[in-house]
Amino acid sequence: MKKSLVISNVGRLVTMEPKKGRQGRLGVIEDAVLLVEGEHIAWFGTRSQWMKRRRNVADEFDVAGGVVTPGLIDCHTHLVHAGSRQNEFLLRSYGKTYQEIAKAGGGIMSTVRDTRKTSYDDLYRISSERADEFFLRGTLAVEVKTGYGLDVATELKMLDVIRTLKDNHPIRFFATFLGAHVVPAEYKKKRKDYVRLIIEKMMPRVARLELCKFCDVFVEDGAFTSDEARAIAKAAAKFGMRMRLHVDQFGNGKGAELASELKAVSADHLDHVSDKGIEALRRSGTVAVVLPGATFFTGGKHYAPARKMIDKGVKVAVSTDYNPGTHPSVDLITTATIAVTQMGLTLDEAWAGITVNAAASLGIASDCGTISQGKRADLVVFDAPDEYYPMYRYGRNLAAAVVKKGRAQWLDEYYNV
Ligand SMILES: [Zn+2]
Repeated sequence: MKKSLVISNVGRLVTMEPKKGRQGRLGVIEDAVLLVEGEHIAWFGTRSQWMKRRRNVADEFDVAGGVVTPGLIDCHTHLVHAGSRQNEFLLRSYGKTYQEIAKAGGGIMSTVRDTRKTSYDDLYRISSERADEFFLRGTLAVEVKTGYGLDVATELKMLDVIRTLKDNHPIRFFATFLGAHVVPAEYKKKRKDYVRLIIEKMMPRVARLELCKFCDVFVEDGAFTSDEARAIAKAAAKFGMRMRLHVDQFGNGKGAELASELKAVSADHLDHVSDKGIEALRRSGTVAVVLPGATFFTGGKHYAPARKMIDKGVKVAVSTDYNPGTHPSVDLITTATIAVTQMGLTLDEAWAGITVNAAASLGIASDCGTISQGKRADLVVFDAPDEYYPMYRYGRNLAAAVVKKGRAQWLDEYYNV
């Protein structure tokens, strides 16, 4: 028989599914109880409904009136990497641009150099500590890209780290192969050879690991062209990987149109997407992943038109884009706050962006992202009067407990278990 766990004394249960008998756009149930069986949600309702059907359940976790939401989902990160780019932040504060720093050997290539020379053990240790930072803020599913190796050995080293994290860390990880992040310095004059290396040498090895559900390409001036992305996507399809694309970040490169042409699960960044691009995303059902933290941290003024995309019927997810250069923060709630203040999302839309829509962008909406019977009981308890308060008090971590794999735990005890 499956182990049962009752989550009791829930002040507000945020189901993310508005229905009759629930409040508002987030489908909130007040004074609620939730029953977990094994690792899944077996039942939830009000306390009085629970009293009527009450039965003996050995384990009870009293959340002291807290707000319970689905585990947060961060669907675009570069979690695994070595080194820091703090010096670039300093340079930018003196007026240097991201592109100038990259041209002078900084940017992504500086992280590539650090990641290449770091041992597997050190890379795993650093990444695992970083994963703890996500976890302690209630982020329970995280997409992680490669792309700081850009040679066969280091790309595989990064994937090994992701696999070990998957096996050992409570977060649920999804790996994306991003060999096409930038053309590495040693291939600058022979970029065709690098694309060939990705397709002929890296992808078969990556596919053999059966670890990556996704393949990503950074389509931008200075990175990869649309035609190169098409060639890589063709190979990815052969290996059973779906595309997610970095597009339209620094200028309009018709990246959204490309993402829908390639039937990508997501098109990410989109700061400069055109109306045509938005229409293409709507038609293909590609999820728009907006990364307002990166625009914010690099001092950009041009945020992705997320408000317009939602109004046009595009599904919008919000993610940190956690990375050492353009957004070195794991704070998904603060990122959601930026989406509200700078992109015009409502707080309800921001919540959808970090739960249900983020799940859709990873193809896992059928088993997480909302609180529904049969879905995984991956839950966060916020020590807050309601679900909007954490985004209001952005920067302060109000995640107090998590439920994961049928177990509940207070986060202040995380390092003691
Ligand atoms: Zn990125």
